[in-house]
Amino acid sequence: MARVHTTKANGQAQRKCGRCGHEVQKGETYYWAKPGFRTRRPVVRCAKHPFRQSELTTGVRSEALAAQEAWEDGLDSIDTFEALESAHQDLSSALEDYVSTRQEALDAWPNGNSQLEEFVYQAEAALDEVDSWSCDYSDSDEPDDDDLQELHEEMRDEPHSRADLVELWLQAKLDEAKSELDDIVQGLDL
Ligand SMILES: [Zn+2]
Repeated sequence: MARVHTTKANGQAQRKCGRCGHEVQKGETYYWAKPGFRTRRPVVRCAKHPFRQSELTTGVRSEALAAQEAWEDGLDSIDTFEALESAHQDLSSALEDYVSTRQEALDAWPNGNSQLEEFVYQAEAALDEVDSWSCDYSDSDEPDDDDLQELHEEMRDEPHSRADLVELWLQAKLDEAKSELDDIVQGLDL
């Protein structure tokens, strides 16, 4: 992965953030890196837009990292089990692509290549971890009587309907499921 340099602009050269187009002013902190393998032109980011991992890598790995970042970015807006399933699915298909691209790279070596073989194992392991997770609930599930009773007692100081309790329960289950999958995604070795 390309190294990120953090620098204060001296005002002599013109530098623009590659994300927002902001022209870095004298005295402002900015970041630069050279992510390309052949075209090693420095890329600049302003203080508000630090580099993300996917931007510091080229090729197939950067796509896998971008899928991981897309998960992170979307996490807060996941408010139903359906949305969670679909984010999970997106991640899984991105990792499937990752595995096949790694595999193709290995297949191009008639006598094998131990480094590329290692990459294939790594990608497969990431896919397995994501695929091993499954959601135990759906948006139409309801709490059992014990759970309802428990929530009812927790909420005794506030007026509430059964529907309120069901919603609370669903929200709690969804938060649990999201953080379970998030732990897996954050721990992926890509
Ligand atoms: Zn910027």
